[in-house]
Amino acid sequence: MENYLDSDVKFVPGVGEVRARLLDKELGIRTVGDLLSHYPFRYIDRTKVYRIGEIAEGDAALVQFRARVTGVSYAGEGRKRRFTAHVSDATGSAELVWFHGIKWIEKRIERGREYLVFGRPSFYRNELSLVHPEIETMEQALSRKPESGMQGIYSTTERLASTLGAKGFYLLVCNAWRLAGPQIREPLPAALRERYGLMPLREALRNIHFPQSSEELRRAQYRLKFDELLGVQLNIQGRRTERLSRSDGFVFSAVGDAFNAFYRDKLPFPLTGAQKRVIREIRRDTTTGYQMNRLLQGDVGSGKTLVALMSMLLAVDNGYQACMMAPTEILARQHFATVVRMLDGLDVGVAVLTGASKAKERRAALEGIASGEVRILIGTHALLEDRVRFRNLGFVVIDEQHRFGVEQRARMWTKNARPPHILVMTATPIPRTLAMTLYGDLDVSVIDELPPGRRPVKTVHYTDSARLRLFGFMREQIARGRQVYVVYPLIKESEAMDYKDLTDGYEAISRDFPLPHYVTAICHGRMKPADKEESMRQFKSGEAHILVATSVIEVGVDVPNATVMVIESAERFGLSQLHQLRGRVGRGGEQSYCILMSGEKLSRESRARLEAMCETCDGFRLAELDLKLRGAGDINGTLQSGMAFDLKIANPTADIQVLTVTREAAAAILEADPQLAHPDNGGLRELRRRYAGREKMDFSMIS
Ligand code: ADP
Ligand code: MG
Repeated sequence: MENYLDSDVKFVPGVGEVRARLLDKELGIRTVGDLLSHYPFRYIDRTKVYRIGEIAEGDAALVQFRARVTGVSYAGEGRKRRFTAHVSDATGSAELVWFHGIKWIEKRIERGREYLVFGRPSFYRNELSLVHPEIETMEQALSRKPESGMQGIYSTTERLASTLGAKGFYLLVCNAWRLAGPQIREPLPAALRERYGLMPLREALRNIHFPQSSEELRRAQYRLKFDELLGVQLNIQGRRTERLSRSDGFVFSAVGDAFNAFYRDKLPFPLTGAQKRVIREIRRDTTTGYQMNRLLQGDVGSGKTLVALMSMLLAVDNGYQACMMAPTEILARQHFATVVRMLDGLDVGVAVLTGASKAKERRAALEGIASGEVRILIGTHALLEDRVRFRNLGFVVIDEQHRFGVEQRARMWTKNARPPHILVMTATPIPRTLAMTLYGDLDVSVIDELPPGRRPVKTVHYTDSARLRLFGFMREQIARGRQVYVVYPLIKESEAMDYKDLTDGYEAISRDFPLPHYVTAICHGRMKPADKEESMRQFKSGEAHILVATSVIEVGVDVPNATVMVIESAERFGLSQLHQLRGRVGRGGEQSYCILMSGEKLSRESRARLEAMCETCDGFRLAELDLKLRGAGDINGTLQSGMAFDLKIANPTADIQVLTVTREAAAAILEADPQLAHPDNGGLRELRRRYAGREKMDFSMIS
């Protein structure tokens, strides 16, 4: 028998060629199965029957009432033709209007007869009217089998809604269900379903579209979320199992000269307990014979770079090369400078390679890594280029992981016949369970301790009227020998305006802080790499007192003498971005300050964000708050567009409980049957295939 789920949606009664094209274009719905997995986004109560007089403007999105037809009328010509049925009950009257399908509807409307009318109310000159409502005779309505009273509402687009009418989508789903519902097979083995109390898939699909009760609906939602998250987990954990079954990871058996000499002679300060613990974890991973795949989470300023450097020295001591990839030119150059400084006097070859590398630098890097003379290579995406050929790459660090995708991470593997150990680092704090889902099959380490002597950054919120005070404060700090960042937002849509704000601000500051006392440097994405670098050099060396910049400096820049971070139009930044920016100060022993500038008028949400910033410096707390403020829906959208999990109903942030359960379930399933080869597991195999490769991530959206 033909499988209707995979067949073209045009065969569903009521669809046809034209609507099928529209469904595909507007919602990506191509097959009957696609249509059935377009779930309602909310439900309305269909047991409620209004009286016309009760329906007020702006009340409900959809209403249902009983009314008798008092007359009909026609207006307009040709394509503008319109058919109106005038109806009333004891409390008032209304107009039902049709623009299409007039031939069909005029035959069904009988004067004097009573109908159940359902649709979207609108008001025109205080008169209630409904365009393309659904109507049933009372006989039909009463003969319908008793419904739960809940009716799904589907998200559509304007174009679709105008073609299909208020109830159109619902009717298509009814037809699709009639066609394909009986063919839905159960993918989950009975034992699994029993264990987790899951409703059968067919029942779940029926209840998600046509809920029998709110309890059944809840169970249906649970079941469908379970399937999605299980599909994702089977992939993630499957990859992990595969990685751990290969056992061809490099073994760093020795702690040797480079590591020891660095530890003994070069370490500028004692490691924090958390840094030591993470280095131990990495050391343990790299002696097992399995390839390491570890995520290091640590708040801004927690000292991840040092952990990375010491891990790379472990590789060097065991005869392997290491590399470190950073998301921006500035950051790569900074890491290079730090590493060169820290390793000064030790016999470890270090090179840098970025998109902006001149021929000489490039040649030195490429030849050095090919010959093995260069032990540590630092750079940007340029490290991924094909001509970058390592002699024996054993360890890869990826800094600020949220800026890179899985694909890029995976490409590092292909540089070697045997996969190097991989350490990815991020300061974007996300709850652990979520991190596991998002970052795939990584083990997670956390640096949960800041270096000693750090004082929380004092954070205040000023409006524009306090600008004079701000300038006074900047002068005072500079007089004490400190440096100041002034950061402007840069949002793609208004890029040109943003750059204007930035340069205006730069000029204003240059005027107010004139030479010879003050030097102001500027740094933004439109500058040539060499100019950017020169600005950064001026600021780092202390020649420049003030750095005016876009959020390019957001990630990782380290100038401990800078104690003031001024963020202009702070309301335009997200919470985690604000936190990242603030992390640029408070790196030395001095008291540091973050000043959030904004206009007087703020939305409630922006105000809450700025208040949260003033209240706490704890990145994990801010991340939680962020989740709350933005709401699960929004985050879900962000994550989904970012990572293309393509989940229809589960929300990895809001459905942590289902996520936890499916992780456990996937682990048990794969332990018993790693290849899902057992005949009972055919459905699971199919589920895994459906969600394969869906977590291509682009975390630039999260930060
Ligand atoms: P992030 O984790 O944000 O990448 P960095 O690695 O840039 O942080 O470190 C922030 C600052 O803290 C740097 O100036 C670094 O030298 C300093 N630092 C790192 N570890 C320690 C430590 N154990 N004690 C004191 N300062 C430290
Ligand atoms: Mg860093």
